[in-house]
Amino acid sequence: MTDTIFGKIIRKEIPADILYEDDQCLAFRDIAPQAPTHFLVIPKKSIPKLADAGDRDEQLLGHLLIIARTIAAQEQLEKGYRVVINTSEDGGQTVDHLHIHVLGGRPLTWPPG
Ligand code: AMP
Repeated sequence: MTDTIFGKIIRKEIPADILYEDDQCLAFRDIAPQAPTHFLVIPKKSIPKLADAGDRDEQLLGHLLIIARTIAAQEQLEKGYRVVINTSEDGGQTVDHLHIHVLGGRPLTWPPG
């Protein structure tokens, strides 16, 4: 597990508003929401960024998206939402533990900054 703030959340060393947990992943609300609904889905496995995911992680990556979809439905984002994976410096990644952002609850503009 990565020694990041998200590793601490997985190990329950710091609190989070957890929406879902299973043996492979955890979902929790972002502490600085950029939309009325903003949550993160992270693997429990130590994968610092998407570029580090291997072919063997295919099932895990699919699972993260299925959970993102399921929680988005629970959060009643039927008008739509955006799924984002910031990766490395140019991608704007600030926490080095792979995470999927799900944002919704308002119209989102494109392109991102
Ligand atoms: P990124 O910039 O893609 O690496 O996204 C990291 C996200 O983690 C940001 O949206 C932060 O607001 C969020 N974040 C950082 N610390 C916490 C925390 N303790 N609990 C929940 N979300 C957090």
